[in-house]
Amino acid sequence: MGELMRQLDWQNNPLGEPERWPVQLKQLTGIMLGAPSPMMICWGKDLIRLYNDACIPILGSNRHPHALGVTVYETFAGAQDTVKPLFEKVMGGEAVAFQDFKFRINRNGQEEDVYFDFSYTPITDEAMNINGVLVICTETTAKVLAFEGMQATNKKIARSNEELLTNNENLSTNQKELRKIVYELAESEHKIRSIIENAPFPIGVYMGRELRIAFANQAIIDVWGKGPKVIGRKYADVLPELSSQSVFTQLDDVFTTGKPFHARNQRIDLRVDGSMQTYYFNYSFTALADQQGKIYGVMNTAADVTDTVLAKQQVEETSDELAALNEELAASNEELQAINEEMASTNEELNESRQQLEVANEELATSASRLRMAIESTSLGTWEYIPTTGELYWSKELREIYGIAETAPATMEAFAAHIYPEDYAWVQAQIAAAMDPVTGGRYDLSYRITRFDNHETRWIKVQGSVYFDEGRAVRFIGTAFDITGLKDAEEKTAKLAAIIASTDDAIISKTLDSVITSWNSSAERMFGFSEDEMIGESIYKLIPEDRHQEEPVILGRLKSGERVQHFETKRLTKDGRLIDVSVTVSPVKDGDGKIIGLSKIARDITERKLDENRKNDFIGMVSHELKTPLTSLSAILQVAKAKLNNTDDTFLSGAMQKANHQVKRMSTMINGFLNISRLESGKIQIDKQLFNIETLIHEVADEMKVTVTTHTINTDECCAVDLNADQDKIQSVISNLISNAVKYSPNGTVIYVACKPTQTEVVVSVRDEGIGIQPADAEKIFDRYYRIENSNTRHVSGFGIGLYLSAEIIHRHDGRIWVESESEKGSTFYFSLPLGI
Ligand code: ADP
Repeated sequence: MGELMRQLDWQNNPLGEPERWPVQLKQLTGIMLGAPSPMMICWGKDLIRLYNDACIPILGSNRHPHALGVTVYETFAGAQDTVKPLFEKVMGGEAVAFQDFKFRINRNGQEEDVYFDFSYTPITDEAMNINGVLVICTETTAKVLAFEGMQATNKKIARSNEELLTNNENLSTNQKELRKIVYELAESEHKIRSIIENAPFPIGVYMGRELRIAFANQAIIDVWGKGPKVIGRKYADVLPELSSQSVFTQLDDVFTTGKPFHARNQRIDLRVDGSMQTYYFNYSFTALADQQGKIYGVMNTAADVTDTVLAKQQVEETSDELAALNEELAASNEELQAINEEMASTNEELNESRQQLEVANEELATSASRLRMAIESTSLGTWEYIPTTGELYWSKELREIYGIAETAPATMEAFAAHIYPEDYAWVQAQIAAAMDPVTGGRYDLSYRITRFDNHETRWIKVQGSVYFDEGRAVRFIGTAFDITGLKDAEEKTAKLAAIIASTDDAIISKTLDSVITSWNSSAERMFGFSEDEMIGESIYKLIPEDRHQEEPVILGRLKSGERVQHFETKRLTKDGRLIDVSVTVSPVKDGDGKIIGLSKIARDITERKLDENRKNDFIGMVSHELKTPLTSLSAILQVAKAKLNNTDDTFLSGAMQKANHQVKRMSTMINGFLNISRLESGKIQIDKQLFNIETLIHEVADEMKVTVTTHTINTDECCAVDLNADQDKIQSVISNLISNAVKYSPNGTVIYVACKPTQTEVVVSVRDEGIGIQPADAEKIFDRYYRIENSNTRHVSGFGIGLYLSAEIIHRHDGRIWVESESEKGSTFYFSLPLGI
């Protein structure tokens, strides 16, 4: 600015040449030019302006340098109204200062609002004359703008406060929704409780070591027979009669060890309505544990099987009786056979004797001595009666039959006195008839006698002939034979036949070639075929075609000495219905123990199967009912979770995650039960389609890897093979096997999923490095509801249905499923599916 000032044409300026400026102006100018902050001197009445370098940015390029050496009024032409009174005031002797004074200037070719702190100080000389104005200014635009900025920020803060308030409101809405969820959970618990309450089988829950009854449904209250006021009382106080029946020890064990206890067909004596009564139950005690595994109670479920057990006992008794009778019959048969043989030989001998007699008769009609000799040589008792004289002769053998001493006299009175009273009249009438010369002559009857010696009742068969002379009976001669054994056998046979005829079970016997040899009336009722239609027919007439292979298997088992009992299968009736039957087959052996035939008892269990179906339908219905509230619960949880994303309340988000996890677990369980009931009621369909097994395995593994972080899933050993099968169901089998591998092997181990084709099939395997399976369990793990109970598996939850469902799915594809395992080393589950169908 000094340079500029020197170049200015001062001659034509009201201030004149600087050399002639008053000393004060010169001094001030010098100070001003050296000052670092903006300074301006407005000198003289014209207020000619001088300014320093620091003023240049304030004046801007459109004023600087023209503002130098001209009156202030010229440069601020646009701001005359404010500038003029101001300068006049200062020139009047008053110093003026402004803070953050705002005015609009044109700076750098642009109109803009600026703020300044100004101080206008009159420049006085020693004589107190005012010669000009010293302006010192500091631009505060930046400070003011910063202040305004702060205000704007404050407003923003106020706005975000408002937003926070809204967020708070949202949060409280979320909380309300959470409360709603809790309510719904309570409602679903209530629903489950009411289902359990109305369940057709007994359920009870006992809490604490004292086993106080916390819950008992109507069914269990009815069974106890102690009236409805049992809740809150100790189990032992309600059912003191069980103290001697080991139930308390069982309960105590379950509470102490956590191991479930199951009893089947267990006899339990209960005091019902004041008197002890015997029942039979299938029941279970299951420990109830909290999340830390601490046991806080025991759940008791039961099924009253009294009727079934009693019926079974009756059948067993009948069967035992039948078996005993069979044996007896066999023995009697032998006896009978022996007797028959004896009789046959006796008959022959008798014939011979007769011939001899005839010969003797012919020769010498009265050769009594020879006749007696002949009779004595037989084992048959013989007698002779001469009506005309009343003379009676009994042979030695006959005396033995009657138990009468050889020396005792034989009289008709003694004979009559030993006829069994009930048979007496009839026997006398028969004798009279035989002696009738017109119609009589032959005598053949069986009746009872009372032995002379021991008064034993015996059956005898008596045959004889009467000889007449001129219309008069002159001789009565005959034989007698003890047939008590035969009669007994007949009676037993009749009894057995009555049992066979009256039993509800079909009793069928057949040869080893499956030809039917006997057919009772229940068989007729059950299958609809009459005895005539079935005797001589093949048993295959009753076997549905897809079960024909059962017959040789059963025969094979019997031959190897195994018993075939309560084998459940289906049989065909005459009208083409399939009925459910339980079959028990026993071998019929000859005297040498050789199997010569089979006897088969079949029981119609259609009703029982229907019961099972009803149970399945019930489980299906309950599961289905539970699904609906669960689905909506899950949806609400999803929404609530999305809303909670904005919050950093760790409790809420943790609670939400746990609720989600539990809902998922419940869904999996319910789906399992639903699948079982669908499967058992034949509602599972196999919908085949073409897909690649390798792609499917990768898909399942990738999906599982999202949730399974504890194990590594390795699918390196897979091959691309196309299959025609139900993709969804095979996917669930693979996923089930991998889940089991995760459940039953320690964290950090590897699960290998592989597949390998052969010429006819593809074999998929899932191998783990887990706890393994004992050989005895390996046979059973594919059964419905089968779980291995030991210390390794106790804390793993499940219902034993995954492998059962998997096996059913694989079997319905005509595939195989099996396991190879070594305890503590790991297991490999395999399944195979046929190629190209
Ligand atoms: P859940 O696992 O629900 O009990 P499953 O039918 O899937 O029912 O399995 C039946 C039983 O077989 C299980 O209880 C478990 O004892 C046993 N098991 C299944 N998979 C394995 C495995 N990979 N390793 C060891 N044991 C297993």
